[in-house]
Amino acid sequence: MRSERLQAVRAQDEIGIERFNEGGQLASEAMIEREIAAEDPRRGCSERSRKRVLIAGGGVAGLETLLALRALAPDRVEITILAPELKFINRSMSVSQPFNPQRVRGLRLEDTAGELGAHWHRGTLDRFDHGRHRAVTRDGDELPYDMLVLALGAHPEHEWESEGVLTFHGGADGPNYRLLLQRLREDRVRTVAFVKPGGASWPLPLYDLALMTAAWCATRDRAEVELSLITPEEEPLGIFGKTASAAVRQLLDKNDVALYTSSYGVPGRDGRIDITPGNRRMWVDRVVTQPRLVGPRLRGIPCDHDGFMHTDLHGRLAGFDGVFAAGDATTFPIKQGGLAAQQADAVAEAIAASVGVELDPQPFHPILRGVLLTGGPERYLRADLSGGAGDDSTISGEALWWPPDKLAGRYLAPYLSSQVGDAADVMPQEEHPIPVEATPDLSALSTQPRSHENDRGQRASRT
Ligand SMILES: Cc1cc2nc3c(=O)[nH]c(=O)nc-3n(C[C@H](O)[C@H](O)[C@H](O)COP(=O)(O)OP(=O)(O)OC[C@H]3O[C@@H](n4cnc5c(N)ncnc54)[C@H](O)[C@@H]3O)c2cc1C
Repeated sequence: MRSERLQAVRAQDEIGIERFNEGGQLASEAMIEREIAAEDPRRGCSERSRKRVLIAGGGVAGLETLLALRALAPDRVEITILAPELKFINRSMSVSQPFNPQRVRGLRLEDTAGELGAHWHRGTLDRFDHGRHRAVTRDGDELPYDMLVLALGAHPEHEWESEGVLTFHGGADGPNYRLLLQRLREDRVRTVAFVKPGGASWPLPLYDLALMTAAWCATRDRAEVELSLITPEEEPLGIFGKTASAAVRQLLDKNDVALYTSSYGVPGRDGRIDITPGNRRMWVDRVVTQPRLVGPRLRGIPCDHDGFMHTDLHGRLAGFDGVFAAGDATTFPIKQGGLAAQQADAVAEAIAASVGVELDPQPFHPILRGVLLTGGPERYLRADLSGGAGDDSTISGEALWWPPDKLAGRYLAPYLSSQVGDAADVMPQEEHPIPVEATPDLSALSTQPRSHENDRGQRASRT
């Protein structure tokens, strides 16, 4: 009986190898193991009765969904991750790379999937045939699913392509930014404007870069360098609420970064920047900006005019039973890793409940957490975006959650810490590693720079 089964499985696996194993994820032995285990009556849920969950996207929302489902419904779902890249890289830390170059350790998706008992398929989702419950990749592979999670992220578009404009998008732009620092050091660049584009964009990177560059210049006697930050936001990082935003304004001011709010900067030729409204103009040596984000615009899926997908608060796509979306790819207006993870948690809970796990699936309740890098002590910013908590805007020099990482995901942050180091080294042993809200020491709420922080005198911020 057992040998018949093995033969049958091997035959099946040979077919499977062609279809599934391009990414190397379905080894014969593993498949045999699973088939045999599926027959074991002692197991609560047989392999074949498990629901197949296909997660398209191996970024923040995709991995958080995988980890959350593993925690919530370990025996009830069979998960496959579909993603075009080999590794997950935490881009939130890429802003510190130019100042402190170090080897970036990513997670190999194949290993992570294997470790968590999931399959990995390398490929790009092209479309899905919901009638047949099949996802189709650009290479023509068909992957079956019972439930599909679209965690496809946003597409970064370069707003301005010209010499003198550096669009910072992640680790690959680190060397160019490093070159900019070298030019600043050599006095070949004296003025830099950080220009936030209109439309959707990641909230923090330009602020991180502006403040770290200011601190970097101060410690190298380059006080004559002029830095400015031009943003369409009414207040700097206004999404974090009044208290945090006021402190960020103060921080920019103390670090001599001239601030232009409610302003659209448009870089032109020869270093010119036109600022609207108001018909203002300035000249700079370099512009640093970030991409404008657009949605994945998946074929056959209703989306808004920028290509982002509409979902309900549990991440469900209207009209497609069993199809969910989470993260930057959705219409939620703030694109951020922590929020992407929270959306993924809501999706995972909805899926877990649908496969019989006894839990009350909680809707997405957005809490924004951000770590602002300053070149000195970090600032932890937090705001409840649901509105229910009133203005609870908080900024602190001490961690407000645990692990105290830039990427705050309930399951992903502790997992990344355990895999790549960082906070895992100092994680409290007895504590639950799920983002623990810590009560800040009120004396640490001061936003005044500490003694070793840069203080280059005041320059009026311009709004
Ligand atoms: C420089 C920088 C700094 C940042 N700083 C912070 C920060 O401090 N804090 C914070 O919380 N966030 C930060 N972010 C934002 C954060 O990285 C994103 O919000 C987050 O990655 C969004 O998660 P996501 O899963 O929606 O998308 P992503 O993480 O972009 O993942 C999308 C995944 O989908 C895959 N994919 C795309 N199309 C397809 C397809 N057709 N088929 C299959 N797979 C597909 C991609 O390859 C990728 O694996 C920063 C981003 C950058 C670039």
